[in-house]
Amino acid sequence: MKNFSVGMDVGGTFTKIGLVDPKGHVVRSVELPTNPSAGPLSFVRRAMEIIRDWKFDSVGLGLAGGVDAETGTLLFVPNLKGWTGFSFKKAFSKSLGVSVHVDNDANVAVWGGYVVALKKIPRTVIGVTLGTGVGGGLVIDGVLHRGATGSAGEIGHMTLELDGPLCHCGRRGCLEAYAGTAGILRLARAKMKRLPSPLTPKALAADRTAGPVWNEVGTRLGQGLASLILVLNPDAVLILGGVARAGDLVLGPVRRVFAAQPFREPFRKVVLAAPLDRDWGVVGAALLSRERR
Ligand SMILES: [Zn+2]
Repeated sequence: MKNFSVGMDVGGTFTKIGLVDPKGHVVRSVELPTNPSAGPLSFVRRAMEIIRDWKFDSVGLGLAGGVDAETGTLLFVPNLKGWTGFSFKKAFSKSLGVSVHVDNDANVAVWGGYVVALKKIPRTVIGVTLGTGVGGGLVIDGVLHRGATGSAGEIGHMTLELDGPLCHCGRRGCLEAYAGTAGILRLARAKMKRLPSPLTPKALAADRTAGPVWNEVGTRLGQGLASLILVLNPDAVLILGGVARAGDLVLGPVRRVFAAQPFREPFRKVVLAAPLDRDWGVVGAALLSRERR
């Protein structure tokens, strides 16, 4: 179909592939096992098999890790060992003859939320994706900010506590060590007498005794965002991802942290938006591939 794009959100276990219309609606979607050990070429072949009969004129991919958005090459991808140095841009554009854009997964999700939920109205936006990890994306003056080496927006690895809990990245006290899935579950084990089974963020969101857990998750998130707000003075903060479904359990403490800031001005104006969850990674990857044609 004219002006349709394919978006792929490539995770370590599964890849979501969607056909997206120009307004950001996902009209078809398929989930594909990523199977990283089979290598990137096998992934490209299996993804091609799925989209072969779809009609579109650009393809976007979001991957968890560092991506050179110009060449579409993976710089480092912790969950996809052996894929580093592979150019998805070359592999897909050679077989499909359409333009292909590759970017960081949090960048594309934030772009999706920025275009569809915020309608590109605010100029400067801090976006955070809450899931297994805590990702981030920055839109500055209407443009996705990638930084000097493509790794800007690693909000999850800002240090909140020098001697805090160990993070997956090897540092201590990162925001992700409190607000990523492993961090939330660690807080639950420390703060709750009786744990839901299975212990997941979703189960904790439904558990009435989990209030102190969400209070700390939201407070830590609020502290991290408050520092960024003082630096960037954004119009809006966009909170995306599965854990954002906990809603006010997380957003309430974030608002309280903002309200308690002594430096009032940047917090008075900032809009806190947590749009209903959709596959923002798929939507954003597709929409960004249109911008980059
Ligand atoms: Zn970290």
